Amino acid sequence: MITRSPALVQGSHADGLQADAISPGRKNVIAQQSSWQTQLSRAIRDPDELCRRLGLERDWTQGARQGHDLFEVRVPEAFLVRMRHGDPTDPLLRQVLPLEAENRPVEGYLTDPLEEASHTPAKGLIHKYANRVLLITSPACAVNCRYCFRRHFPYHENAPSRDQWRESLRHLRDDATINEAILSGGDPLAASDNQLAWLVEQLDNIPQLKRLRIHTRLPVVIPDRIDDALLVWLARTRLQKVMVLHINHANEIDHAVIDACARLKQAGVTLLNQSVLLRDINDSVDTLAALSERLFEAGILPYYLHVLDPVQGAAHFDVPDSEARELVARLRDQLPGFLMPRLVREIPGKASKTPL
Ligand code: SF4
Repeated sequence: MITRSPALVQGSHADGLQADAISPGRKNVIAQQSSWQTQLSRAIRDPDELCRRLGLERDWTQGARQGHDLFEVRVPEAFLVRMRHGDPTDPLLRQVLPLEAENRPVEGYLTDPLEEASHTPAKGLIHKYANRVLLITSPACAVNCRYCFRRHFPYHENAPSRDQWRESLRHLRDDATINEAILSGGDPLAASDNQLAWLVEQLDNIPQLKRLRIHTRLPVVIPDRIDDALLVWLARTRLQKVMVLHINHANEIDHAVIDACARLKQAGVTLLNQSVLLRDINDSVDTLAALSERLFEAGILPYYLHVLDPVQGAAHFDVPDSEARELVARLRDQLPGFLMPRLVREIPGKASKTPL
């Protein structure tokens, strides 16, 4: 994941506790979808179905079909049940529902806003920053976030395979400066545990590597992904383990997410979070403060708050820099320093994220 996703509802709605108020009937639906793979394969992939399940008028999606055709809707049940029934402004729904606004061309919004294509020494490998490289580990995500900066990424050209990974591994072995491997995607945890165990074993054998970083949204949208099979290969690696989750709103963190995070921490994983500042989703001090508090309850430290990358189809989520700075200044008055995410922008060609 990622790595980074859409106000709606602020203040009293942003406490994360509503997310646990799931009716027994809806909980049964999830219980019947036992494995994470089953939940992944049964994710909702149709905007009309998404609206129907939430009791919303079908004409809510009028004009949005084109956006769906370009970047399909994908919402797993375990994420859906945290959305408020009958509320088209729900902050989780707004992250995943295509709107007509996606179809309007906006100057400066591009298909590859971070110019990743120019930092790809091997297929599926992105080497932008010193000392660390990013492996596109899986082309799939469990959820499709409408603001995703990789929504136009040519995954078909970078679809990972063992042969492709071998080429990437050669690049890592040959560069003694690289000490950190980042698994990204898509969502790296959408790959099977067999594939991931193999890949991590290869990374273990590269002496200069110290850290394994995994950018993922799967433990949030399908908490059952953190199962025994995953914990086995995570526990086995000699590398220090960091997982960067992607959570934009406190309502995303229910008890299942907290349990998944506890299992990861027991396995020695450091948990961080990065969010995207999104218009009408988390663009208020109260919502951002509630998010940081809820993250800490789940054992996750706030890391980055990204301003939106200017990706084509996502301009309606943008919060101007001046407003973002003011929000963060007011947030600082509310939170202890260790709960403050760093407000950053990613600028193509820069050696690191740029603080705002
Ligand atoms: S669509 Fe996938 S890669 Fe993009 S932000 Fe969402 S989870 Fe991350």
